[in-house]
Amino acid sequence: MACGTLYVVATPIGNLEDLTPRARRILGEVACIAAEDTRTTRGLLTHLGLRTPCVSYFEHNRRSREEELLDRLRRGESVAIVSEAGTPGLSDPGAELVAAAAAERIPVVPIPGPNAAATALSISGWNADAFAVEGFLPRKGRDRTARLARLAAEARVTVLYESPHRLTATLRDLADACGADRAACVCRELTKLHEECWRGTLGAAAEEFVGDRCRGEIVVLIAGWHGPVSPLHAAPGPASAPPTDEAIRDGLDSVLRSGAASFAAAVKEVARRLGVPRDRVYRLGRGGRQE
Ligand code: SAM
Repeated sequence: MACGTLYVVATPIGNLEDLTPRARRILGEVACIAAEDTRTTRGLLTHLGLRTPCVSYFEHNRRSREEELLDRLRRGESVAIVSEAGTPGLSDPGAELVAAAAAERIPVVPIPGPNAAATALSISGWNADAFAVEGFLPRKGRDRTARLARLAAEARVTVLYESPHRLTATLRDLADACGADRAACVCRELTKLHEECWRGTLGAAAEEFVGDRCRGEIVVLIAGWHGPVSPLHAAPGPASAPPTDEAIRDGLDSVLRSGAASFAAAVKEVARRLGVPRDRVYRLGRGGRQE
């Protein structure tokens, strides 16, 4: 007998209109939905006018549930896995079931859609050709200290998830570890009524996000580390001095190292970020002196 298909279905992170038509169809066609939070998923199904049966599949019951779900798949039933919000398997349950299904050659099909990290990056205005999604930081102890130290030296943009009641402490720790002048974006309530993308430095973020300002769901973006002086990520301000030749060369180096498509693309990017003419960046990049 042919086995069923395991569909990995992304669901909205706030705005229900973000569910794709394909996701809706699959959620209506499968025999059963394995849901991280059955209450949230039933709410979504009601909104869609669907009555597909749901079973819970979350961190603490996933091992026992796995065999039952695999058995349904082996018998030819199709199953969808959904998390509470966004894409299953990304800081959410899902990877183990996918791995177990793949090991038995059960077809696994992605139904892509919303993801909080990608959504935050898309409105950051930062070059996200290379980024690292770190999920949640360890809450305390040596693990947290070690992770903060690693983040301080990360050259790529880092994406962090954080809960409202830990946001202030995390921003303070990040400012201490990475430097208060490291650029940051704090994205709150993405795709929802009170959506916000705050841009500034880690130091300013730690002062801004206290008390009621921490409400909702939050993604923190941290600019990559590019040496003791980070001209590309310095928060723009009226008092900032014009970029020096050295700052422009450093910027060009770091953009080239982070995987720019071509020299010309890197020149364009650095000129845009530093607010200097392209021909100046070009000449400095080719070895000429300007100042
Ligand atoms: N798998 C999910 C995804 O693909 O987006 C991420 C799951 S992770 C357990 C949940 C975290 O994502 C939240 O604590 C928050 O940091 C972030 N998040 C989820 N929805 C969000 C939203 N609408 N706005 C900002 N951050 C959000």
